Amino acid sequence: MSRPKILIIYTGGTIGMIEDTETHSLRPFDFSHLIDNVPKIKKLDYEIHNIQFNPPIDSSDMSPEGWCEIAMSVERNYAEYDGFVVLHGTDTMAYTASALSFMLENLHKPVIITGSQLPIGEVRTDGEENLITALQIAAALDTNGDPMVQEVAILFEDYLWRGNRSTKMSADHFNAFKSNNYPYLAKIGLGIHFHEEALWRVPARRPLKVQTNMDCNVMSVDLFPGIQEAALRHMLNVPGVKGIVLKTYGAGNAPSQKWFLDLMRETVNRGVVILNVTQCVNGGVHSELYMTGNGLAGTGVISGADITTEAAITKMMYLFGMGLRSEQVKKYMKCSLCGEVSL
Ligand code: ASP
Repeated sequence: MSRPKILIIYTGGTIGMIEDTETHSLRPFDFSHLIDNVPKIKKLDYEIHNIQFNPPIDSSDMSPEGWCEIAMSVERNYAEYDGFVVLHGTDTMAYTASALSFMLENLHKPVIITGSQLPIGEVRTDGEENLITALQIAAALDTNGDPMVQEVAILFEDYLWRGNRSTKMSADHFNAFKSNNYPYLAKIGLGIHFHEEALWRVPARRPLKVQTNMDCNVMSVDLFPGIQEAALRHMLNVPGVKGIVLKTYGAGNAPSQKWFLDLMRETVNRGVVILNVTQCVNGGVHSELYMTGNGLAGTGVISGADITTEAAITKMMYLFGMGLRSEQVKKYMKCSLCGEVSL
């Protein structure tokens, strides 16, 4: 058996940061610093190569161009490597994981995204373990000799999560990510215990196809009691907007006032896709439960079921990026393309 061949794509984030001597804030630093701090990597009998963003970035500066850079690096190296580890800041990791899950069509190799809460040079860092476990997951095979993970996933501390189901839950804790509506893909303990029934599998293996055109004419709007008609009307009428993720209450409920429902109907009739996504971290939209949810559904706003905001926004970018019209986008928003929503 040949040694597993893994490509590390280092984009930046806390994992590779050092303290700036003048400001004392953390700033991204280069890959050699990061890898020099993990001498244990040499104990893995893997062939590991790396590429890095130039310069590495804080993930708050991540953008669709950055996602394309990662996706194209995977595409260029797809045949040559068994798996990919993306080192990334935690702040927008769930957006990147979601975006890549759509952009990397027909993926059947592991793309494991990880980072850390403390820089790798610090004594109590979580970065070292996260990096090593991510490499092991990227190299893991199932009993057929196929990659164990055939999707984009986030490895953080004790768990492996489906990328497009994940959300950053904590700015303080090492277990910073969670997928609130989908089980973990693996639990990390003394060993790596894969939850095989939860892993994504495609019935037919097709060549990888990368979709790099993401349309950013989308936005997310949070409802709150007291939201003003003028403010909401202004947001919904932003020139060029094609898709809106409407963050509603509970099981997908929204105000029943006439001005609100008329505004939703007008916007939908203009051809804008409005997706109802709950503000709750767990559970999904069930518009039929309450009159207030029913009223919203009656305006043509569609249900996002239990999709995360991160997956909803990036899925809309992806679908509009393919040049699809509103009706087609609505159709695909109601389906699961790569395990992002429960049907
Ligand atoms: N600001 C950092 C980033 O997202 C935070 C982190 O990596 O944990 O790049």
